[in-house]
Amino acid sequence: MNGGRDRSGPLRGVVLDTDGVLLDSAVVHAAAWKTAFDACLAEPASDEPGAGAPFDADAEYRRYVDGRSRYDGAEAFLTSRGIRLPPGSPDDPPGCGTVRAVAARKEAAFRDALAAGAVVAFPDAEEALAALRTRDVPCVAVSASRHARTLLADTGLDRFLAGVVDGEDTARLALPGKPDPALFLHAADRLATGPGDTAVVEDALAGVRAGRRGGFGYVVGVDRSPDGSGSAALRQEGADLVVCDLMTLVREVWGEVR
Ligand SMILES: [Mg+2]
Repeated sequence: MNGGRDRSGPLRGVVLDTDGVLLDSAVVHAAAWKTAFDACLAEPASDEPGAGAPFDADAEYRRYVDGRSRYDGAEAFLTSRGIRLPPGSPDDPPGCGTVRAVAARKEAAFRDALAAGAVVAFPDAEEALAALRTRDVPCVAVSASRHARTLLADTGLDRFLAGVVDGEDTARLALPGKPDPALFLHAADRLATGPGDTAVVEDALAGVRAGRRGGFGYVVGVDRSPDGSGSAALRQEGADLVVCDLMTLVREVWGEVR
């Protein structure tokens, strides 16, 4: 997985995605989406082959949902199946009648999983953040999810971070979601490093695209799949380097851990 593209200068800061990079939560999000979508796919919207097939929590999660806001992700997947729903309103109860109702069902399923303690940090995350702090490289964690700040605190990772930008901030500041780079650029502002001197670390295709669009100095894809099956797509989106864990990234870019 090594052999990244050369950089022109040193990297002064790192913006890390949260779900799937720091927290082992992408699979929990994907399962919650499956609960929400499959409930609405019982009656196919068209005669197209596969229109009523269950949500693929791996391939379709990566293609349509991963890295996007709840609303954008729900709309992108439903549209791919020919299902066009009215937007609805933020207080719609869980259901299938509006995009926000589908998103609300996902949120309810995800909260159930959180209450059951389903989300933990990846074992390499704390080690890598500590190693970067030793090297005086500040890190900010970003997420489209409103749960990220709480989860980063619960797992203890927040003590290694210079800041967190999550779904609460994107809503308050009306920042567009990935693949728009606004979230990452806001995080780079928090670090006071220009995007050209900052690395973006992402597991989602939409996030790698956002890093490239934002003009970041180094875009790193994280492929935690056991067989490395996600690496080619991350490179295709423009990742300079793809790694299977965060300590590989630290060693590749900043040298051996002392
Ligand atoms: Mg992610």
